[in-house]
Amino acid sequence: MKLAIVGGGISGLSAGYFLSDIFDEIFILESENELGGKIKTLTFKNNLLELGPDSISNNFQLEEFIFQLNLGDSIIFPNHSKINVLYHNKILTFEPEIVSLNPTFILKSKNISIKSKINLLFEPFKKCIQNDESLEEFITRRFGKEIYLKIGQPILANIYNADGKELSISSAFENLKRIEKTYKSFFKYALLFRKKRKPLFFSIKNGLNRIIMKLEEKVVKKNVKVLKGVKVLKVSKINGKLRVITNLGYYDFDKVVLAIPSFFCYDILMDFGDICELFLKTKWTSTITSYIITNEHLELNLGNGFLVSPLENLNITGCTIYSNKWPQKVSDRLTILRFFLKDKSFKENEIKDIIVNEMDKVFNIKLKNFEIINYRWKNSFPQYSINHKENVKIIREFFKNEHIYFIGSSYDGISISSCINQAFKLRDEIL
Ligand SMILES: Cc1cc2nc3c(=O)[nH]c(=O)nc-3n(C[C@H](O)[C@H](O)[C@H](O)COP(=O)(O)OP(=O)(O)OC[C@H]3O[C@@H](n4cnc5c(N)ncnc54)[C@H](O)[C@@H]3O)c2cc1C
Repeated sequence: MKLAIVGGGISGLSAGYFLSDIFDEIFILESENELGGKIKTLTFKNNLLELGPDSISNNFQLEEFIFQLNLGDSIIFPNHSKINVLYHNKILTFEPEIVSLNPTFILKSKNISIKSKINLLFEPFKKCIQNDESLEEFITRRFGKEIYLKIGQPILANIYNADGKELSISSAFENLKRIEKTYKSFFKYALLFRKKRKPLFFSIKNGLNRIIMKLEEKVVKKNVKVLKGVKVLKVSKINGKLRVITNLGYYDFDKVVLAIPSFFCYDILMDFGDICELFLKTKWTSTITSYIITNEHLELNLGNGFLVSPLENLNITGCTIYSNKWPQKVSDRLTILRFFLKDKSFKENEIKDIIVNEMDKVFNIKLKNFEIINYRWKNSFPQYSINHKENVKIIREFFKNEHIYFIGSSYDGISISSCINQAFKLRDEIL
């Protein structure tokens, strides 16, 4: 049996790793000349700057996976754990557990009003809704508007670079919907599963691209063929085989895994008919990321950085104080800030002015004498809309009959750990 995996990002490479022993031949086809997709580590004057993701959710299976790649010794945890939100021109600091909407931490927070806390006490008696709804509807219904505005939109929706009004709770935060369905109350869940505190995220000391290098090394050892600079243009069914047409010619396969953003699948799978319209149902958003690197010491008492509530009317949507968060990756003589900006067609020098002006306006911080590195992430964040799950199910069921499978950030979660998990689960589906 011969398998093609299209896309050499974390999803495609992990699929190669988990499937290597159940196929006679596997080819990973990557259009760029380097692997990794959104995982990109830049070395700038001996500092390791992550241009895409900088951290990985710290769950048990993922840690084990990192150990299998012999990278266990390279795991590092962020220096700080609290989450800062810029809201009505003030910084609100939350404990990290707030991300899972743990009500005991919401009750303890100084940043939530008494009125919202009283309302929160009724959370166990709130009706449970089976149907999908937006992140905004879900949080407002169970926890109240204030908690949505201070936590839901700036922290949770921000992960998807999304508007919480549009984001599907069942697809983007399945775990939260599951708590409601299974335990009927977040209080009950928090009491039953009082976890030992551990950092929510980790990174790799010598850059996240080490994971990509190690995966490449491992899959090549397992006889997987990795072809770079090979762009897949079309997949068609010919005499019972799947013909994969690329910029360099065609190859025939028994099965194909597409580990690329779903909008590319529309063109590639056109021969399979109207079903392909579903690939265009997911909209994508873009962002600009900018590193500011300076020798100057800045008085920033903001831990790992801050996220900006959309009510602030700023172009900056978040800032990581990279040299605070990951001191192991950078020189201790430098202050390195990483900004995330709204996607507008800013010119390079405009980006610099926006950052300088907005940092001055909000924090009275004068940024001078710095170097700047901008990177534009065009169409990089899928916006899971209501009923995203149903669409994915229809796509997967239809194409399973054609021996075509789908994994990656377009489907079951955007995080690196969700991408690896999808590749792992594919093993059972494809057998
Ligand atoms: C700025 C930014 C910050 C992020 N931060 C975090 C974070 O801190 N933590 C976290 O967990 N996640 C984060 N994410 C999300 C995470 O990085 C991605 O969801 C994940 O890396 C996607 O991996 P993937 O393999 O599914 O897709 P991709 O990385 O997009 O890989 C797809 C690959 O397919 C290739 N390809 C596309 N079309 C074709 C074709 N026709 N033929 C052949 N090859 C093709 C592409 O070149 C690419 O290499 C972030 C994302 C961005 C953009």
